[in-house]
Amino acid sequence: MRYHVKKVFLFTLFFTMLFPRVLTAQEGFETDVIKTSAGDLEITFIGHGTLMLNLGGKIIHVDSWTRLGDYSKMPKADLILLTHEHRDHLDLKALEILRAEKTDVVLTQTCSSQVKGGIVMNNGDVRIVKGLKIEAVPAYNVVHMRSKGVPYHPKGMGNGYVITLGDKRVYVAGDTENTPEMTMLKDIDIAFLPMNLPYTMTPEMVASATKVFKPKILYPYHYGETDTSKIVELLKDVKQTEVRIRKMK
Ligand code: ZN
Ligand code: ZN
Repeated sequence: MRYHVKKVFLFTLFFTMLFPRVLTAQEGFETDVIKTSAGDLEITFIGHGTLMLNLGGKIIHVDSWTRLGDYSKMPKADLILLTHEHRDHLDLKALEILRAEKTDVVLTQTCSSQVKGGIVMNNGDVRIVKGLKIEAVPAYNVVHMRSKGVPYHPKGMGNGYVITLGDKRVYVAGDTENTPEMTMLKDIDIAFLPMNLPYTMTPEMVASATKVFKPKILYPYHYGETDTSKIVELLKDVKQTEVRIRKMK
């Protein structure tokens, strides 16, 4: 028995030394740390369109989806951002687990019919929530249609969000194409742009938008089966943007 405990201890110690980041993250999800004037911002890549941000202990969950991870093992949310009502973005089960007394939920009008007590933001709205500036950017299709004249994401329904975290501006685009509103964004440090087809953008659309609004770091996310090497290739000569590929299928 004592031998076993000692072995577990040594094993844990060994892994802590070897993979310190993995142990602080949840279930071995990849994480990146970005320095901001308000402290370290830890980004946890949960998968698909789903993220967790941790700014000095302030926890922001984005489009949480129980299919991607065990939310009972993740910290409760100070803030939850919901981009739209599709089931891979609005999951009531995840909300139930992550919501606490302190939690603010920022969401769209359409989401608010299913989620009570949230803060509705319409396209273009700017709010300060939990001391953080949040801007709602329209997320919609221009080209890709469900059927003739019916976009997968009609204009006015979905939000992307620009969140200001210290001196960094983080843009989580939601399900959208390279709209005029996206390309007009300014001073974006980190951008998450969707790349799954046929619902959102082709790598060419992502590259085209990136060249215009020039985020410092681009994370293609929500990319499904799209080959991520394409976006890397398309932006290989663009010096102002660093493309980072993480497990966000
Ligand atoms: Zn969608
Ligand atoms: Zn989606």
